[in-house]
Amino acid sequence: MTDTLSSAQPSADLPTATVHDAEQLESLSPITGDVVGRYPVADAEAVADAIARAREAADWWAALDFGRRKAVLDQWRGVLARRMAQLADVVHRETGKPHADAQLEIGLAVDHLAWAAGHAKKVLGPHRVSAGLLMANQAATVEYLPRGVIGVIGPWNYPVFTPMGSIAYALAAGNAVVFKPSELTPGVGQWLADSLAEVVPDGRPLLQCVHGRGEVGDALCRSGVDKLAFTGSTATGRKVMAACAETLTPVLIEAGGKDAMLVADDADVSAAADAAAWGAFSNAGQTCVGIERVYVHESVADEFVRELTSRTAGLSAAGDVGSAYGPMTLPGQVDVVRRHVTDAVERGGRAVVGGVEAVGEAYVQPTVLVDVPEDSSAVTEETFGPTVVVNRVASMDEAVSRANGTGYGLGGSVFSKAQGMTLARAMRSGMVAVNGVISFAGIPALPFGGVGSSGFGRIHGADGLREFASPKAIARQRVRPLMNLTSFGRTPAMDKNFATVIAALHGRATQFRKR
Ligand code: NDP
Repeated sequence: MTDTLSSAQPSADLPTATVHDAEQLESLSPITGDVVGRYPVADAEAVADAIARAREAADWWAALDFGRRKAVLDQWRGVLARRMAQLADVVHRETGKPHADAQLEIGLAVDHLAWAAGHAKKVLGPHRVSAGLLMANQAATVEYLPRGVIGVIGPWNYPVFTPMGSIAYALAAGNAVVFKPSELTPGVGQWLADSLAEVVPDGRPLLQCVHGRGEVGDALCRSGVDKLAFTGSTATGRKVMAACAETLTPVLIEAGGKDAMLVADDADVSAAADAAAWGAFSNAGQTCVGIERVYVHESVADEFVRELTSRTAGLSAAGDVGSAYGPMTLPGQVDVVRRHVTDAVERGGRAVVGGVEAVGEAYVQPTVLVDVPEDSSAVTEETFGPTVVVNRVASMDEAVSRANGTGYGLGGSVFSKAQGMTLARAMRSGMVAVNGVISFAGIPALPFGGVGSSGFGRIHGADGLREFASPKAIARQRVRPLMNLTSFGRTPAMDKNFATVIAALHGRATQFRKR
């Protein structure tokens, strides 16, 4: 199906774009502009066919017990781990990111797959809960059943790690998946689907890809899937939600952020600067939980900027093996980065590293902006590029208030020896790393997702498994009730007894006292 051509020498001047015609999606290298794969574009009928095939596979998969599902997913995990270099090549070709970074995201995804498969039974399997005193004659059980077919719409920035946060957990919960990869990274999605098919008995289509642009994502939203998991921009997230609303299809939205790092006066400033550099510049800043803003206490601000500057000095973006990070994967993103940096500088901010001239055609060199007005677009909008704003604050209360000042609320980072947990709790976000950066994403047991414009719902962890399952509540009568209150045979004496029991059980709870 794919037609992979060899890569030519890297060139910063070549445009990177994905070209379409009626039937084929061409995947291009953002480094060379070469075509690295061709994939058939799915129309609405092809999406419907994929859903029909997925339904059959889902019925078979849901009927297996947790152990047999785990056995299949463990085999897949082995394939992914053994062929990590091969998959990393595909990621490198389609996104331009360094091979080692591709390997990092694949390794973390494999670890998540292991956790999801290994914990599904414990999290989702039947378990007894207390029926309570009033219903003591009942046995109460809750279990989480597969939803059926899950639609996944993925981004290009982490084309393995991010969609696998939905795919691995949805499969472990007993669902089949139909996946629309980003039009920039179809080869990565297809590689994942093909590798799973190798280990599923009879090649059942547990994971299928439908390729194409936004229209295909839209068709998937309207296809009658049992849940839709989306990762991408907030603007597209709104469209996805509106399309899904028409069929009352539940959605999970992971929609990016404007994550902040807080650096307190008792922080290990050197470690904070190191983490800020990684959080801001790795993957060319194209990270939904990347650090885009730093609020640093004024007493350590100069030292922090010095440390960050010196760490940034040795970093550069290029298409070769030794570069810190690669090109911008999405060509249009360069214009967003240029607009934000220009706005910051024109409004009084200073570029202590990089600046407007650091924004090239395909590559953006690291840029550190300081003292940027808080209403500048570099502070308020998602930049998704290798730039970071560092603003000084007089107190950590001010740092928290500024960090919480955007509509986003995805992740965040805090550096402090004594106040780490307090500051982490005060941040309005779904996740925070204390004395680290992005560490929460690598811990499979922790739920991943945001609040506000960053979306809702969770991938990863027990919450991530439950996200792709329906709770089923069962109340089983163990013995006859002393008083059958849900019967027309109920007597006035029973009503009186019931009132007495309720008063005894709850009447003294938080009594209101007149002063
Ligand atoms: P989009 O939000 O446009 O795309 C994300 C996914 O949704 C892609 O697979 C895309 O397909 C698909 N899609 C597009 N339109 C529709 C639609 N109407 N219905 C259903 N699915 C649709 O992100 P972009 O890739 O264009 O990036 C734009 C911005 O989004 C970035 O600048 C960044 O700010 C943010 N972003 C955030 C990410 C995150 O991790 N939170 C990841 C990627 C981007 P296709 O690619 O084929 O158009």
